[in-house]
Amino acid sequence: MQDYDIIIVGAGASGLTAGICAARNGSDVLILERLSKPGKKITVTGNGKCNIFSDRDDVENIVNGYDKETAAKIFKSIPFDTLIRFFESIGIFIHEKGGYYYPVSLQASTVRDTLVKVALVTGCDITCDCEVSTIRKENDRFIINDMFSCKKLIMSAGGKARPDLGTDGSAFKLLGQLGVKPTKLFPALVGLTTDFKQAKVIDGVRHYADIHLIVGGNEVFSEHGEIIFNKKGISGIPIMNCSGIAARALDEGKNVSVRVAVLSQRDREIMLKSIWERLIEGGYTIEDLLTGIANRKLVYAVMLHMHIDPEKRPSVDEGFKIAGHVIDMLCGITLHVTGTMGFENAQVTSGGVRLDEVNPYTFEHKRVKELYITGETLDADFVCGGNNLTFAWITGLRAGTYAAGGTIDSDIFY
Ligand SMILES: Cc1cc2nc3c(=O)[nH]c(=O)nc-3n(C[C@H](O)[C@H](O)[C@H](O)COP(=O)(O)OP(=O)(O)OC[C@H]3O[C@@H](n4cnc5c(N)ncnc54)[C@H](O)[C@@H]3O)c2cc1C
Repeated sequence: MQDYDIIIVGAGASGLTAGICAARNGSDVLILERLSKPGKKITVTGNGKCNIFSDRDDVENIVNGYDKETAAKIFKSIPFDTLIRFFESIGIFIHEKGGYYYPVSLQASTVRDTLVKVALVTGCDITCDCEVSTIRKENDRFIINDMFSCKKLIMSAGGKARPDLGTDGSAFKLLGQLGVKPTKLFPALVGLTTDFKQAKVIDGVRHYADIHLIVGGNEVFSEHGEIIFNKKGISGIPIMNCSGIAARALDEGKNVSVRVAVLSQRDREIMLKSIWERLIEGGYTIEDLLTGIANRKLVYAVMLHMHIDPEKRPSVDEGFKIAGHVIDMLCGITLHVTGTMGFENAQVTSGGVRLDEVNPYTFEHKRVKELYITGETLDADFVCGGNNLTFAWITGLRAGTYAAGGTIDSDIFY
């Protein structure tokens, strides 16, 4: 049996941070990672650039989970400057662009490599290719895989999203062995499937649009941004940002739809004027009149959907009416949502161990003493923009420091 003060399950964002903080506070630390390299997920974040932080202060509006208020307090519990100082202390320097924060290298791999190097140099042992499958508590020590023992255990094994990156929900199975259960789990930051019959025609089309999520007839979310259509449905940041809400609503049997507006009312007026003038000029097919109002494939799909013949040369009145219908549709087409694209494609997990089960300063479990839980294993997930990593860094920093008996500068809460 190999004995440590602290064992951390998972060498991801929060696990590596917890390891560094625990080792810097004098603990003997082992990090166990099932994949062959630590921090694989970090390297794919932000499309390989790592959208590393967020300093949003409207956190209550961008978080999913049972206890949004506590999630927001945790998010703000380490001042942004303190977080930046922590990263500078390990050699990661931050660059801000348009309100988004990235490492100056714009390379997520440098964030991973730095975290791993600092963890090793501060004294953590990291064992890869080591899947944790059993945990029990015996005589005040945690026994892991019948091979390792520790006084304090930090569960940083992530959620259930992207099993190819090591996270298949095993954190929750392991916690179950200690009597800790998560809330129901949903994929989030994921595309939505729809029953739009012409989806194949618009596969791959990208467009800026206003999207509105409608649940049970009420609008619950709206955002502007780039959306991407695919064979099964729709994706892109605004869709990902409301996917957790959609997944929960579908699970409750509610009717869910997305209204997509690729054109605005202002566009409508300008376009109809131009169409009218060209109809007077004569000689145009419906398709000719509408080419250029939006992505060609999208306009064609809407015409198919509305059983409009694109080749038709209409009269002035008829052409104006048909073009008006197509433009109206592009000002707000309603797509019925049938599901999500699943945990395989999701960036995060919605749900996890409820925040009221842990101490929100230290992340120690209230019932299972000396067990700490961090990052995505907890029930808090956020919209895109560096927020999920922020939560991982903060919870890792706090759990690692406090598990090792340390304290944090500028420690604020409530
Ligand atoms: C494609 C993609 C892009 C993203 N981009 C961003 C972004 O730009 N900004 C942002 O804020 N967030 C982003 N996220 C979300 C962010 O990466 C996660 O929320 C964050 O990494 C969660 O940190 P964590 O420490 O909780 O878990 P993870 O970072 O998921 O780490 C968990 C680790 O535990 C290991 N593990 C799991 N089970 C076991 C086991 N039984 N035994 C041993 N090891 C185990 C896993 O292999 C993994 O290495 C992105 C996610 C994805 C998938």
